[in-house]
Amino acid sequence: MTAPNIIERIAELRVVLDSARVHGQRVGFVPTMGFLHEGHASLMRKARADNEVVLVSIFVNPLQFLPGEDFEAYPRDLERDLAVCAKEGVDLVFHPPVEEMYPEPTTQRITVGPIGDILEGKTRPGHFDGVATVVAKLFNIAGACRAYFGEKDAQQLVVIRRLAQQFDFPVEVVGCPTVREADGLAMSSRNVYLKGDERTAATALKRGLDEGARLIADGERSGAKVADAVAATIQAEGLARLDYAACVDPETLDDAAEVDGPVLLAVAAWVGKARLIDNMTVSPAPSQAPGRGPR
Ligand code: AMP
Repeated sequence: MTAPNIIERIAELRVVLDSARVHGQRVGFVPTMGFLHEGHASLMRKARADNEVVLVSIFVNPLQFLPGEDFEAYPRDLERDLAVCAKEGVDLVFHPPVEEMYPEPTTQRITVGPIGDILEGKTRPGHFDGVATVVAKLFNIAGACRAYFGEKDAQQLVVIRRLAQQFDFPVEVVGCPTVREADGLAMSSRNVYLKGDERTAATALKRGLDEGARLIADGERSGAKVADAVAATIQAEGLARLDYAACVDPETLDDAAEVDGPVLLAVAAWVGKARLIDNMTVSPAPSQAPGRGPR
């Protein structure tokens, strides 16, 4: 187990990655905000399996936090993060100071448009502009690579796929499945905020998603009814305060009136100090058109 090379400067990272590519090595990139857990580690393992060089960035991006959100309190533990990276065979850790990423005056931002105003964006206006801006910078800095993102942040993944495509970044965006605790809670750096009974209450999000999936499996085809059932399950948990429960098209994230193909069930709720999100893609069983079933 060798310790990763820790790089704080953009210019230095560019030299190292350009040199790797000149020698025919492919770069796998895992952008994170640190306080790494098994979800992040799963992205690193995928990057490790697919590429000769694995880069992890650890940067808590101030641009994606709204005033009053937890930027200052966001959990940080670089020592432990470096140990996780070493264990997963990561070659390079990019850990820039804020001034390196945003030297004064930084005035320009990517705007993601209407996709940034729905679901998460309703409660966190401007959040996805902040995400897209830092990811655009990271893609510019990393150069040609495969970049690994979690399906846990489904809306973020849609935004980033569009970003890579619409701005012609030489980056292949790879989505990776959500890693969960044994009781179903999606792993998140923010789970450390959960105290006492809140930790059990937090499983309500996954229970809500499971209830939505069950209704669809039982033949419910109204997106609104599915979303309402997901919401009701979460609201039945006294310690959870629902933000939204939605049944949407997985690519456009528009409300799905009919469940006539795969839908994304997406939820957000506060449990204590933690604002938690989760989602699940569900496909209805193929309906048998009359006269076309097996004879
Ligand atoms: P974050 O550090 O929270 O910004 O997350 C960094 C990356 O890890 C993002 O692409 C997330 O979607 C992904 N990620 C976070 N939690 C999980 C999880 N439980 N399973 C899979 N990926 C995750």
